[in-house]
Amino acid sequence: MVADNQADSQDTNNILTSTQEVIKTALNKLGYPEAAYELMREPVRMMIVRIPVRMDDGKVKIFTGYRAQHNDAVGPTKGGVRFHPNVTEDEVRALSIWMSLKAGIVDLPYGGGKGGIICDPRKMSFRELEALSRGYVRAISQIVGPTKDIPAPDVFTNSQIMAWMMDEYSRIDEFNNPGFITGKPIVLGGSHGRESATAKGVTICIEEACKKRGIDIKGARVIVQGFGNAGSFLAKFMYDMGAKVIAISDAEGALYDPNGLDIDYLLDRRDSFGTVTNLFEDTITNDEMFELETDILVPAAIENQITKENAHQINSNIVVEAANGPTTLEATKILTERDILLVPDVLASAGGVTVSYFEWVQNNQGYYWKDEEVQEKLREVLVKAFNNVYTTSQNRQVDMRLAAYMVGVRKMTEASRFRGWI
Ligand code: GLU
Repeated sequence: MVADNQADSQDTNNILTSTQEVIKTALNKLGYPEAAYELMREPVRMMIVRIPVRMDDGKVKIFTGYRAQHNDAVGPTKGGVRFHPNVTEDEVRALSIWMSLKAGIVDLPYGGGKGGIICDPRKMSFRELEALSRGYVRAISQIVGPTKDIPAPDVFTNSQIMAWMMDEYSRIDEFNNPGFITGKPIVLGGSHGRESATAKGVTICIEEACKKRGIDIKGARVIVQGFGNAGSFLAKFMYDMGAKVIAISDAEGALYDPNGLDIDYLLDRRDSFGTVTNLFEDTITNDEMFELETDILVPAAIENQITKENAHQINSNIVVEAANGPTTLEATKILTERDILLVPDVLASAGGVTVSYFEWVQNNQGYYWKDEEVQEKLREVLVKAFNNVYTTSQNRQVDMRLAAYMVGVRKMTEASRFRGWI
């Protein structure tokens, strides 16, 4: 069995060590040998690159970027690229592991990958962003490709950035290669439904969780932390389904209205980085927002938002993680003890990579699907995944996070075993 001293459980706000801890417990519960954990605790490949970009002021700036490939036993690795000033090597490693888990949970023929560049796109021009995106692809071109590792959007990257990256890769490869990357604009081989896919997946998980808890979405109170790609689409879906979105937040603050916010108005006013609260005088803080009484709370921003410091104050029946890693392990324990149903990130946010897979399949086939077809297939995949994880959690008497890890880690561990790696 797996030894207990590998992951440093002291530092639970470090997302890599806490991910390793849950992976270890999941593999233990499934009865896999120590070698399985040794393989799964780190990406099999990690590339660190330095990218020179001539900035608009004429000076050259060197950016640091990463690409991690966690496990490619099942198939090529897959996962987004984030552009953010706080990107770290450990974060990219952890995020690549989560992508493997997501692929396992929704049963895609992929392992997990992830990329990141330390930069602040909010302070860069379009031209600088294009040069950075192209420079990154040139730097990692040897380890990525439609049958090796397929990038996609993540925090502060979008379909335009995917288009530049696809163009750069196609030039290097000397033929048009849309299957190299997903999350592209539709005219370049993108898929219907990809942009809203993460939020759609979260919505489906909310619907399933509400069934378990006897909550009617119509009239239910919802709080959404974060107004980026996942948060803004999700607020809109909830609003359109008749829920009362009583609070939303962004990096600057939060808006609260007990009667429900006008989400269409807020969507209209938000900037491309998801900021809207700066236009209002009457705001509350993120901490105050977390303490409000609600039925459904959706952290859709960044890591480590629900911690042991504020988990006791959370006043919600259900917490559904649309962001990657918003709840620490200690907070997961507190919420579970308080009988709050926590739907973990690796399940709830898997809608994005699911439609990315559909996009890649369409690119490979050269045959494109209607939006309804995408939506129908996405629903089928997510409902099945949710109930698989929920049943595992009931049968094995573990929380939904551990259940999701158990479901997610199994396929790649089996594939690694058949290949003779462990
Ligand atoms: N960045 C998204 C995620 O964290 C999507 C990845 C993809 O589509 O490959 O799940």
